Amino acid sequence: MTSAKGAAFRVKGVVWRIETARKITQFLSFVLFSAVLFGLGPWPIVLPVVFSLGVPQKTVGDAFAMLQWMLHDLVFPWLPLASFFLVAALLGRSLCGWVCPFGFVQDLLGYVKRKHTVVSLRTHNGMIRVKYVVLAVALFVSGTLAISLAMGVGRGYDTALGAFAPAPFNALSPADTLFAIVPRMILDVRYANFDVLMSGILFWARLVIMAIVLVLAVYVPRSWCRYLCPHGAALAFLNRFSFLGLKRDPLKCTKAGCRTCVEVCPMKVPILDLPWEKFTDPECIYCLKCAEACTTKAIKPKFP
Ligand code: SF4
Ligand code: SF4
Repeated sequence: MTSAKGAAFRVKGVVWRIETARKITQFLSFVLFSAVLFGLGPWPIVLPVVFSLGVPQKTVGDAFAMLQWMLHDLVFPWLPLASFFLVAALLGRSLCGWVCPFGFVQDLLGYVKRKHTVVSLRTHNGMIRVKYVVLAVALFVSGTLAISLAMGVGRGYDTALGAFAPAPFNALSPADTLFAIVPRMILDVRYANFDVLMSGILFWARLVIMAIVLVLAVYVPRSWCRYLCPHGAALAFLNRFSFLGLKRDPLKCTKAGCRTCVEVCPMKVPILDLPWEKFTDPECIYCLKCAEACTTKAIKPKFP
């Protein structure tokens, strides 16, 4: 075996190992989130990852769904806020890479096509802002509704919002549709609010949004996470202040002519333009594909 072939083989082997470890973690997280179905009771744990508001039997809760519900019930959302800040401070956006069930589904869909669509840098830089708009709109609706309800003038607003009132984002969330609506359609199990969610245009809108998001994930890796997820937006904002980051050794990095790390990154992080000593890019989900793909092992996690 030539040395070039040997090196390629070794890189492939290491990437396979880290990917396997990540997939196992993602799969176990997915099972754990639904473990109540296997007899494990719900835990008072809330994590900033997209799961589903529509499944009452959850072991671990979805922080953004809970935040919206608590605002609607006029309870200060201290638990989901603490979850966002604590997780982001310690681990940045790494739960997106290793734990989130909807991220896991997108990663699996990414295997459908070997060659993915290349999004131009200009389009990418414009599109990554859309998720902040999704977050802002959901928070605006939840916040204004909570304020008007607290002032005793919000009943009409609440009624007008209908299925959007308790959790505006989740009323159209593709994760809710995938993890709650579709299984309920298949199993025909009824649950609170199901009739409202299934009715008319909202139901079809949910299905269409889910289908578009899932198909997009086949062509553009992690497209939902990059461009649309409000959890991702909140964590991206907080990621800059995370203890966890990555560092790139300037002595080992053969920057000239090698862009392997940038090419394997599912989030299009401009690794080679970031500081050597530590980078905590808003879009980085700490999947470590870059670290494992680097033939000189120049990239490593850094904490703090
Ligand atoms: S950005 Fe992706 S991985 Fe992170 S919470 Fe959203 S769907 Fe999950
Ligand atoms: S920079 Fe590295 S760890 Fe971060 S998302 Fe890209 S490949 Fe994953």
